[in-house]
Amino acid sequence: MPKLIRNQSLKSLHTFGVEAKAKHYYELNSEIDVFDFLTEIDDIAKPLYILGGGANTLFTSNFKGSIVKMNMQGITLMHQDEDYYYVEANAGVNWDDFVAYCVENKYYGAENLVAIPGTVGAAPIQNIGAYGVEAKDIIHMVYFYNIDNFMLNQLEAKSCKFGYRDSIFKNELKDKVLINKVLFKLSKKPNFKLSYGKINEVLEQKGVSAPQISDIANTIREIRGEKLPDVKKIGNAGSFFKNPIITIEQLNIIKKDFPKVVSYAISDTEVKLAAGWLIDNAGLKGYAIGGASVHQNQALVLINSDNATGHDVVALSQYIQKEIKQIYGVDLMPEVVFV
Ligand SMILES: Cc1cc2nc3c(=O)[nH]c(=O)nc-3n(C[C@H](O)[C@H](O)[C@H](O)COP(=O)(O)OP(=O)(O)OC[C@H]3O[C@@H](n4cnc5c(N)ncnc54)[C@H](O)[C@@H]3O)c2cc1C
Repeated sequence: MPKLIRNQSLKSLHTFGVEAKAKHYYELNSEIDVFDFLTEIDDIAKPLYILGGGANTLFTSNFKGSIVKMNMQGITLMHQDEDYYYVEANAGVNWDDFVAYCVENKYYGAENLVAIPGTVGAAPIQNIGAYGVEAKDIIHMVYFYNIDNFMLNQLEAKSCKFGYRDSIFKNELKDKVLINKVLFKLSKKPNFKLSYGKINEVLEQKGVSAPQISDIANTIREIRGEKLPDVKKIGNAGSFFKNPIITIEQLNIIKKDFPKVVSYAISDTEVKLAAGWLIDNAGLKGYAIGGASVHQNQALVLINSDNATGHDVVALSQYIQKEIKQIYGVDLMPEVVFV
């Protein structure tokens, strides 16, 4: 049975870095640990919270149940066919290490998802995405244990109900499963997506006309580094809110008062609004409550600027939601999981 640690500080176990303690804490380092843990599940303090790298988690107060950190390591090339490599990565693998492995081996498809903090096991949960690519584009199969009956299950990508920062694991299977590994399908041929954001522009500035996979990963890493605060220096969880999806009719109403509102068409009838623009335009950059504030360079990122408590961050996020609703009539939904 994995070792039980009591009264574990969670400060260094989530990227917001606010102080909170877990009554019980376990680290699962192997399949055997997972099996032993599930076998003893009746005696484990509840509720459970499954933790990866804590890059999308905000601990708002002390946790009275058990935090279960998924720490299983290992990346394996399982097989290949004419067009694809099939690579399996265990849940605890650092996501950026997985992307680096793909880039180094010229397995194409993951390169735009470089420098996203967190673990492989969490990638399917909110279908992480960046620079025009989402995890769903390269996930082939997700393997997970059902916490209730210890059964090992698998779901093909098409059954995972992936959507914008969404999946079956945030809905029907929320809090019911422990993802232990993910099988990825990576292309043998490049199919680079360079039109998103400043990728093309920066490649041109560097004089790269025929980019290799490593050029793209390095360029996106640089662009991200300029925009987002480094979690090692400033506590944050990346984009705090999802970009709201509204109808074109709603957009036209907003445009009457805010003609410069930033939006991206996602279908003939709907658009995604840039939540960062809404917050910035509301004059909230730098706005602070207690030790939490809105980042000066990137309004979508809330930061732990001065020993914030979880309550400070929650209060700030609620204030922003209230303001955005009042100004634009739009609901902002957090991307970050409050625990
Ligand atoms: C600076 C910064 C930049 C970011 N940029 C992006 C970005 O570009 N795109 C993007 O999509 N996200 C981004 N994020 C958010 C974050 O990186 C992702 O959500 C990432 O997948 C979180 O991984 P994690 O392991 O830290 O998850 P955690 O925060 O540990 O957990 C997140 C959720 O997944 C569940 N979970 C975790 N592991 C498992 C498992 N093995 N089995 C079952 N449930 C599990 C948790 O219970 C929780 O509900 C960013 C975050 C930061 C700090």
